[in-house]
Amino acid sequence: MVIHVYKNRMKKHYAILFVAFLFALGACTKAEVEVDKEEPIKEPIEEVVEKVDPKEKIDLSLKPNEAGQIMVLMYHNVGPEEKTWVRTPENFRKDLEYLYEQGYRPIRLSDYVRGHITTEAGKTPIVLTFDDANLNNFNYLEDGTIDPESAVGILVEFNKTHPDFPLHASFFSNGVNPFRQNDLIQKKIDFLLENGMDIGNHSKEHMNFKDATQADLEYQLGAQIQYLNQYLPNDYTINTLALPYGSRPKDKSLEIYLQKGTYEELTYEHIAILNVGWMPALSPFHTAFDPLSIPRVRASEIDVDNVGFMNYLKDYEANPQKRFISDGEATVITVPSSFADKLNTSLPLEIYSYE
Ligand SMILES: [Zn+2]
Repeated sequence: MVIHVYKNRMKKHYAILFVAFLFALGACTKAEVEVDKEEPIKEPIEEVVEKVDPKEKIDLSLKPNEAGQIMVLMYHNVGPEEKTWVRTPENFRKDLEYLYEQGYRPIRLSDYVRGHITTEAGKTPIVLTFDDANLNNFNYLEDGTIDPESAVGILVEFNKTHPDFPLHASFFSNGVNPFRQNDLIQKKIDFLLENGMDIGNHSKEHMNFKDATQADLEYQLGAQIQYLNQYLPNDYTINTLALPYGSRPKDKSLEIYLQKGTYEELTYEHIAILNVGWMPALSPFHTAFDPLSIPRVRASEIDVDNVGFMNYLKDYEANPQKRFISDGEATVITVPSSFADKLNTSLPLEIYSYE
């Protein structure tokens, strides 16, 4: 068991440090050296690793279902008046409170598509996304503080009061000057990445890709990453795309350039491509999961045609078995046996089905 070994190593480190400390003391006075002789350090030598089956730690009374649905919420603006593409700060806070109360916990988009789900047992992962990188998503006030009415301000504050609601969200940027404060771009991107949030691709010119050519796609997607790269650390790669207008080329042979391509010296590859509507996404362990076509749910209550996030959230309250419920063990996929045939069996994870 891993924790066991870790503890033993820690003990060893302490023991070595203590011995070093005594040597240092010994150089100063005789008395301390005597103490060393009288109380020899007993180093733990036990290195037997006990293997514990991770399934034993899974609490089936929480009814885990890792074949269930995961919602990728799509926000745009946070502003003073509620509109089709604008959520008020009050409503956004209310959304977070409701999601928290109902057991939803944010995860990174990249973790979702990779099937790396570390959400605590009994809770449902959710992915928060914001398109267009407008000022109201992330605004610094003149006194240097983050605007508490901007999306990032609200998320940070919520995470402070609810530390078990992780600070993960993806912001999809198109064109120059993400978040619209020209002299603060670097500061904002650093803040997002250092605090567990992500930047994604939303194309250079917010182009509708319906009639796009290969050259259009490679320019729109590659040039945007090329622009953002000047603000990103070398070890951070933009690999997620939110399609502007949810549009895809009519010519299906061009779809590959949404996923990967080359612009000037830059090669891009997206591991997640997000659509605009209108339904919850599948578990990453589901046989039909397609990371290159992930539906999103609009986080709005206006013009949602009964397929907005509140519609699905209410549905999950009545039908909790539809949603993904984590078993708390990232290496095991736990499902009720009635869902077992929905699982992709080629993944390097253990499947655990129960009656
Ligand atoms: Zn957009």
